[in-house]
Amino acid sequence: MTQALVDILREGKNIVFFGGAGVSTESSIPDFRSEDGLYRARKIYGYPPEQLLSYSFFMRHMDTFYRYYKENLLHPEAKPNPAHIALARLEEMGRLSAVITQNIDGLHSLAGSKNVLELHGSVLRNYCMDCGEKYPLAFILDPQNCTDSAGKEGIVPRCEKCGGVIRPDVVLYEEMLSEGVLADSTRAISRADTLIVGGTSLVVYPAAGLLQYFRGKKLVLINLEKTPYDRMAHLIIHDRVGKVLGGAVEGLSV
Ligand code: NAD
Ligand code: ZN
Repeated sequence: MTQALVDILREGKNIVFFGGAGVSTESSIPDFRSEDGLYRARKIYGYPPEQLLSYSFFMRHMDTFYRYYKENLLHPEAKPNPAHIALARLEEMGRLSAVITQNIDGLHSLAGSKNVLELHGSVLRNYCMDCGEKYPLAFILDPQNCTDSAGKEGIVPRCEKCGGVIRPDVVLYEEMLSEGVLADSTRAISRADTLIVGGTSLVVYPAAGLLQYFRGKKLVLINLEKTPYDRMAHLIIHDRVGKVLGGAVEGLSV
């Protein structure tokens, strides 16, 4: 199975990777849809993730949004796993032109990937909703920079310059994806000869719709469970993406 992937990687001159939450589960960041994923949210916070992470919920219930967000979406201790590292190596070898990700954890850049298109933004970037001042993750994690709804030290981060609410530079439900990132992703996929899709359930749109722009020869799907696109793939591997990609890129170098 992995040998078939090694062969595809060896033939590929312009490989693009498109991934989702499953790429980071081997870095101990849970995904949304696996059994132990963030769907437990409903039990603990009283709402499903789609609602907790929507723009209207954020505007109405900032305290609950930030409690859920900080307890579940921020993993400052997480390290890149073999999937992130293998993709960075493929780019370095000149075989891979872009990593397109639905993840917001910043782990691809941390692994050394240069051309990373973050469709849903990044938890590492934050900005004041009033004056636009930018803040790193460490700032919003410090309770001294946050207030609660009564204005005391709390959970909602506030701008040092103007006191406005700081929000993460991530795309919330109900919000549009960045047109620039979407255009770059469409272009990268439409030029690729090989598309590797990994660790995504392919049910979140418009991101999943990007697959339709692929005109190349080889589509590879690596996911623990079936996806709606399995029948379109040349190679389907139902296994862990870190293990599979890590092994395949190692196989390439020998
Ligand atoms: P998803 O949770 O819907 O699906 C993840 C898929 O990956 C599942 O089909 C699961 O079976 C598979 N998977 C899990 N671990 C895997 C592994 N080790 N190897 C191979 N497959 C594995 O995720 P999605 O499709 O990316 O979309 C959900 C949304 O959740 C996205 O918008 C994304 O922004 C957000 N999200 C991001 C993170 C993150 O940044 N790490 C984490 C959770 C959710
Ligand atoms: Zn401000």
